[in-house]
Amino acid sequence: MDCIFCNIVAGELPANKVYEDEHVVAFHDINPIAPVHVLTIPKKHIPSAMAIETEDWELLGHLFHGIQQVAKATGVDQSGFRVITNIGEHGQQTVHHLHYHVIGGRQLEWKA
Ligand code: AMP
Ligand code: ZN
Repeated sequence: MDCIFCNIVAGELPANKVYEDEHVVAFHDINPIAPVHVLTIPKKHIPSAMAIETEDWELLGHLFHGIQQVAKATGVDQSGFRVITNIGEHGQQTVHHLHYHVIGGRQLEWKA
């Protein structure tokens, strides 16, 4: 499959990993917008949050567990951070493999 995040999961594309378990991998965004900018993804290819199915509900728990581990590993668990998933054209989703941006390490503004 021609999916860069599947290629990272498969180890065919290098990534600077922060966390990994059976279901989830997290790695630094190649184009960070803040001191901490990590992408947390399921190893399973799911095109976006709109493609999540009932059988994936348990996986979502693993994803948020992964996000908690990323926050601790990058030191933003106490200072706070933001979790974002972009969906579709207006959401400016560019990689069509579900991912949660974990962004922090500075004071964030709330602007769309
Ligand atoms: P989105 O626009 O929400 O689909 O986010 C995709 C993110 O993936 C962007 O922030 C990119 O900078 C990031 N990205 C694209 N390719 C890579 C890569 N090979 N390694 C790490 N991050 C990547
Ligand atoms: Zn994929």
